[in-house]
Amino acid sequence: MTAIPLDDGTCSPLLICDDCGRAFSTDRRPPVEWPALWALAVDAGWQGRDRPVGPHVCERCAPPVPAGVPGPVGRAAGDVGEV
Ligand SMILES: [Zn+2]
Repeated sequence: MTAIPLDDGTCSPLLICDDCGRAFSTDRRPPVEWPALWALAVDAGWQGRDRPVGPHVCERCAPPVPAGVPGPVGRAAGDVGEV
């Protein structure tokens, strides 16, 4: 149970890391629903199941994905942002 839907619908669901308890927040307006929120979280490095019930881990707790190994979430491998 890691994604908490809010009753009044004024905010996006709250996604919480199962490992460290860190919350993923977005400033998107209007509020996004779960699929869009999860897409944003995955883009930020979160991993886990694409279901609100989880489990989910944040980008700090997610195990590093070896280059060249296709992951279950279909992210582009190798783009680690070399700056
Ligand atoms: Zn975490």
